[in-house]
Amino acid sequence: MADDPKVREWKRRLLAKGGEIAKQLEDLMSGKDVDLDAGIPEFGTSDKELRLRRFLDLIDRGIKRADTGRFGRCAVCGEAIPAAVLDERPWTERCAEHAT
Ligand SMILES: [Zn+2]
Repeated sequence: MADDPKVREWKRRLLAKGGEIAKQLEDLMSGKDVDLDAGIPEFGTSDKELRLRRFLDLIDRGIKRADTGRFGRCAVCGEAIPAAVLDERPWTERCAEHAT
């Protein structure tokens, strides 16, 4: 469903977010003090670099999924993730039941 306009829009937003996070990581690596956005998942760590890298991985997986027709489906059960959730967090890869 790569031609689905909603998926295209979510992919566009993932690409934009990925660029933003990559820039933050670059700033952090060059010694700048970076304030992480509250919207970035915690991934069970307080390490900023690790959080940014894990978030980037999550975003990258989302971008790849957008080209496979599996976008917006739970990675565990295949259930459709509500569009409202994807509008808010297009990197979401699990349904509410399987969210970690
Ligand atoms: Zn699920």
